Amino acid sequence: MQLSPATAEFNGPIVIIGFGSIGKGALPLILRHIASPRKKIVVIDPDDSARRLAELEGVRFIKNALTPDNYRKVLTPLVKGGFLVNLSVDVSSAALIGLCKDIGALYIDTCIEPWAGGYLDRSKPLSMRTNYALRESVRGIHRDGPTAIIAHGANPGMVSHLYKHALVRLAADLGHTVAPTCREEWAELSRDLGVKGIHIAERDTQWADVPKRPHEFVNTWSVEGFLSEGLQPAELGWGTHERHIPAEATFHDHGCRAAIFLTRPGATTRVRSWTPNAGPIQGYLITHNESISIADYLTIEKDGEAVYRPTVHYAYHPCDDTILSLHEFQGNNLRHPEKLRVMNDEIVDGMDELGVLLYGHAKNAFWYGSHLTIHQARSLAPYQNATGLQVTSAVVAAMIWAIENPRRGVVEADELDHDRILSIQEPYLGKLVGAYTDWTPLDNRGDSLFPEDVDADDPWQFRNVIVR
Ligand code: NAD
Repeated sequence: MQLSPATAEFNGPIVIIGFGSIGKGALPLILRHIASPRKKIVVIDPDDSARRLAELEGVRFIKNALTPDNYRKVLTPLVKGGFLVNLSVDVSSAALIGLCKDIGALYIDTCIEPWAGGYLDRSKPLSMRTNYALRESVRGIHRDGPTAIIAHGANPGMVSHLYKHALVRLAADLGHTVAPTCREEWAELSRDLGVKGIHIAERDTQWADVPKRPHEFVNTWSVEGFLSEGLQPAELGWGTHERHIPAEATFHDHGCRAAIFLTRPGATTRVRSWTPNAGPIQGYLITHNESISIADYLTIEKDGEAVYRPTVHYAYHPCDDTILSLHEFQGNNLRHPEKLRVMNDEIVDGMDELGVLLYGHAKNAFWYGSHLTIHQARSLAPYQNATGLQVTSAVVAAMIWAIENPRRGVVEADELDHDRILSIQEPYLGKLVGAYTDWTPLDNRGDSLFPEDVDADDPWQFRNVIVR
């Protein structure tokens, strides 16, 4: 039963796997927005350093590491008929989704995870270490069982609702009133507006009064999660306007074929982008599910061939201490760092500026997204920084959607009702900002000091975006 626009009632058990930066932040929001008996809520994590925090909230904590051998035995009695919220690293999304289908439980995660070691398994071909392969492995599990929302945090997740809002806004600013209702109509709108591509453009400026120490990797969310995805091949949705195939590109011969990967890690691959507050940035081309899902969702095919698809990828400029950490990591030839730290209470100031940059259309480029400062985040919810709140508010919004739509099978963000999700999430996003820019990747490169192999005829070619 729905109690108010941002509240749902759920009487089954809720099991949260993983009580790291996102799990800790998500718990109070789940308690705030989902009316559910606390005695039926359980947190599972092999690290019990935050046990007290869960118990203070009246929630049971179980210290355990889920593995391929024990997950069915541990989880089945706890979550049968309930809601499994996977906010861990190293626990396979595909395995958990299969289990939830069998025991009639709802499911959500914020990233399609493999079992431990899956990202770095040298015995696998590179193509099997991509998010493309992970996405293909879960998409087909079932389409009509209990709702299983995959990859729904901030990005992947919220950004899929932001680009839809941005498309409607761009159409309105060009004099058209539109209200697409299905995948085909969203793709046609994107094509008709002339959108060549979408960057998930993020600049995190949060900084702390505890400086990064030598051999320490600092981040505003999971260091393990970031290192794992940073060591996957760089990946991007490959648009139909692209004229130059990168030398390191590999295409897939199965599945949706909406994306390519580069034979190099995202943690060493930079791309040019733009956000309203920071202006021009060089971000990292870290692989993410949304690069593939958005490109796939907005594809128009004719006779089995793509005739329209935007290029889609992440351009992540993390906070300054993370940039320093990445620099040291690269210097160490990508050796795992000795110490890891997720910044939280020590943050003094800054914001996470996270949104979508729709480019190549009649108004050049339009960024739409969240400006959330650390101070706003702290006033809105406990135990998390601005980056965390953009993620956890997306988790709880999608959980409410799943409770309202319990039989949709495996779905990703692009398939949810973007207005509904954003209406729940918006109070947690600080300021939602829409900004046009005349910046392009060729900005200030016309009379370059050094020769550059650019495509001067179309600024929005990926050749101009990637930093070589
Ligand atoms: P974290 O590293 O802070 O926490 C992960 C937790 O998982 C840890 O507490 C760890 O002990 C636990 N864990 C490890 N192995 C486990 C096992 N075998 N069984 C149960 N628990 C186990 O990470 P985080 O920042 O909280 O991120 C959690 C997940 O959310 C990651 O997959 C990350 O990629 C994802 N994420 C998504 C977004 C998004 O916007 N979509 C943003 C941030 C994080």
